[in-house]
Amino acid sequence: TGNDCVGTAIRQGCESVMQLEMMPCPPAERAANNAWPEWPRVLKTDYGQQEAIAKFGSDPRVYQTTVKEFYKNEAGQVCGALIAKLESQVVDGRRQMVPTGEEFTVDCDLVLIAAGFTGCQPYVAEAFGVDLTKRGTVADVKYATNVPKVFACGDMRRGQSLVVWALREGRDTAAVVDESLMGYTNL
Ligand SMILES: Cc1cc2nc3c(=O)[nH]c(=O)nc-3n(C[C@H](O)[C@H](O)[C@H](O)COP(=O)(O)OP(=O)(O)OC[C@H]3O[C@@H](n4cnc5c(N)ncnc54)[C@H](O)[C@@H]3O)c2cc1C
Repeated sequence: TGNDCVGTAIRQGCESVMQLEMMPCPPAERAANNAWPEWPRVLKTDYGQQEAIAKFGSDPRVYQTTVKEFYKNEAGQVCGALIAKLESQVVDGRRQMVPTGEEFTVDCDLVLIAAGFTGCQPYVAEAFGVDLTKRGTVADVKYATNVPKVFACGDMRRGQSLVVWALREGRDTAAVVDESLMGYTNL
């Protein structure tokens, strides 16, 4: 999605474009712990980034960074961003990208956010009284939450994923709900 944003910005005539990436730059070739047939965790340069390289002479991606703050001008329009540099650390047993303390600012006229899912909206989980996992997704046992007759599936249960998983889990959950209501299911 970020690549699409870069490509669209260039095609609409931007004078410069920067793509902030939270994660470190992946290696050009498979690492020793990423053998075939695993998904190759290697650097991919898609059409938007290729166009940026062709037009501006450099890859638009700036790795291990995130936005800490946006600035606005007197008209209330975005005009800049405060960027924090990040490094990989293990926090509470999970590897996470955390700020190094180093920061810099960039001027900008337009900000596009191509960010993925980071957990369900807390107010929804609170409204139903369902437990969450450490990752902010709804905790379940075979799609059933800790609250009777409340079920969860898709990104809300699994975390950020794919449409095919949302479809699969929706169907599986329908069968679990059917069984809990009927005592059996033919779904
Ligand atoms: C930027 C981005 C790009 C992606 N690109 C791809 C891709 O190319 N291919 C791919 O397979 N997947 C992609 N995904 C992932 C895919 O979109 C999700 O995995 C999938 O949509 C999850 O489906 P879902 O039904 O679990 O949740 P969602 O599609 O998020 O559906 C949840 C629904 O609940 C509604 N809702 C929320 N709160 C309430 C409430 N209180 N009351 C009523 N309704 C509520 C929301 O409006 C939403 O319609 C992308 C995701 C993002 C964020």
